[in-house]
Amino acid sequence: MKEHSFIYSDEKFADLQLLRYQVPGFEQLTLQQKVLVYYLQEAALWGRDILFDQNGRYNLRIRKLLESLYTCHCEKRKDEKEFQSLVVYMKRVWFSSGIHHHYGCEKFEPGFTPEYLHLLMEETDPSLLPLIKNQTVQQLFEDLYPVLFDPTVDSKRVNQAEGEDLVVTSASNYYQGVTQEEAELFYEKMKDPNDPEPVMFGMNSRLVKENGIVQEKVWKKDALYGEAIEKILFWLKKAEKVAENEKQQQVVRLLIDFYETGDLKVFDEYSIAWVNDNASRVDFNNGFIETYGDPLGLKASWESIVDFKDLDATHRTELISANAQWFEDHSPVDARFKKEKVKGVSAKVITAAILAGDLYPASAIGINLPNSNWIRSVHGSKSVTIGNLTEAYSKAARGNGFMEEFVENEEDLKRIRLYADKTDDLHTDLHECVGHGSGKLLPGVDPDALKAYGATIEEARADLFGLYYMADAKLVELGLLPDAEAYKSQYYTYLLNGLMTQLVRVELGAEIEEAHMRNRALIANWVFAEGGENRVVEWIKRNGKTYLKINDYPALRSLFGRLLAEIQRIKSEGDYNAARLLVEQFGVRINAELHREVKERYERLHLAPYKGFINPRYVAVLDENQNIIDVKISYDESYTQQMLRYSHDYSALPLIND
Ligand code: ZN
Repeated sequence: MKEHSFIYSDEKFADLQLLRYQVPGFEQLTLQQKVLVYYLQEAALWGRDILFDQNGRYNLRIRKLLESLYTCHCEKRKDEKEFQSLVVYMKRVWFSSGIHHHYGCEKFEPGFTPEYLHLLMEETDPSLLPLIKNQTVQQLFEDLYPVLFDPTVDSKRVNQAEGEDLVVTSASNYYQGVTQEEAELFYEKMKDPNDPEPVMFGMNSRLVKENGIVQEKVWKKDALYGEAIEKILFWLKKAEKVAENEKQQQVVRLLIDFYETGDLKVFDEYSIAWVNDNASRVDFNNGFIETYGDPLGLKASWESIVDFKDLDATHRTELISANAQWFEDHSPVDARFKKEKVKGVSAKVITAAILAGDLYPASAIGINLPNSNWIRSVHGSKSVTIGNLTEAYSKAARGNGFMEEFVENEEDLKRIRLYADKTDDLHTDLHECVGHGSGKLLPGVDPDALKAYGATIEEARADLFGLYYMADAKLVELGLLPDAEAYKSQYYTYLLNGLMTQLVRVELGAEIEEAHMRNRALIANWVFAEGGENRVVEWIKRNGKTYLKINDYPALRSLFGRLLAEIQRIKSEGDYNAARLLVEQFGVRINAELHREVKERYERLHLAPYKGFINPRYVAVLDENQNIIDVKISYDESYTQQMLRYSHDYSALPLIND
């Protein structure tokens, strides 16, 4: 039995919608587990400023400026159109942890004029403005003017355009004063190709050139971001004392060590301990994890999630994991690239208790960590799907008219209504539990050989593994799918998304840049092209609208299998050129005419293409000796209230971090 009862926030602005997720099962945790969650969510909230600064060196100043203007002038000016635009801009900055779109990476265009901003700044108590040193209000305005208003300054957070200096042209704050070539050379020199246990060089530092010397500024206690890390450490040390068991305690202790030393060997030890802790009910991540924000894929953005195991739903993924070797053995991949023994694919469904950093407010729905290749192959990885977030998504999507607009055929539509929630979950499980964990690199192949294309190829590999098996009788046999028709729902919605509907997230005239989107476009466009001759998949026109038609589902499955085999070959052999060709040919470009049509049809539905989540709020109930005797959870904060509270209560970093 599940106890979901979602309260929806109707907070919608720009292309964003905020959903409120609930945390079913929290009340049933033991007091000790609740206290542990409480300490860990405090540690999570204290990292917020780190991500803002990682995403761009002006972000903390801009956030403070906007919040000050909002609180000082809201009462008097809330009916002015330009003020409302400023509020939308502020909400977008909160959502993205910076001035660039969280997904597309392009800089926001303010809906207010520089003159209006100037006027508000002049009318604000200067002590509330983010002035640095003896700066005047005018100087602050001049500092921020190009960053906010000049479209040619810091125009992309992460630039992936082939042929450009990706480091210099990306606005993210991972490199200062270095070129792509200098950065690549710096890390190339650190690598020892014979080290079987290479640490992830560069993941916890900014690379700078000072006095002509290229060097790292490490994110750790008493160094860069030390003020925020100090606060995180304070709460982790409390968490350490109430850990559920010794293994978990060791995980927390190693993370504390890592934050204190910045030693990447310690981070690996921590990751191994974390992978091996499967018995604890409560779990968490807190640190520098994913590298999507760095065009070179080295520097990790800060994020945190605190969660606990959803015992019922975990049964489903355990079943998949228990059969991991069967999946590996029967995949259409060349035997040379298969793992003889698939190790340690642990799988569980979790309930998120708090989201922070790069997981807030927009969050992944599945997580597979750690990212270190050698740890994954020797110690395995931990895979989770986040049940309460998936559920919030699918509830929000139901009955909004989206599928009815883009699916013409009644039979397809019926199948989607009947199966889509189930098959979506299952595909995510397959992607995370067996997809990423499958296959192996040939001896001597550099795990980073695919460079900028690595992330897209890796996501495509995991997605294809899932797609291929969705249609397998094994899933019905295991009771994971109700019948042999269900997979068609997933095939249809996957292709629809890759070919059409995900395009609503891309600006007209732009190309696809984000790795997951490139992956879906690559897969969909490739099977469309390959299956064209036999009309496996085709476009049809009705009343001037384009629709996707799938004529031959079994043939489509074979195509997924063929592409999986090729993608695995590319990964296993480190075939950079083949990766580049596949991604550039199928995953990047958009048919302009189709793009325009999709955007127009979508806009008429008045839906927000991106969703994010409002966190619950936790309050510790204390007795007269200041001991925690209970932890209360509440869901009554609005998006704006929550963001302002976080800025007020959890601002740890100075305005400039150099
Ligand atoms: Zn993935």
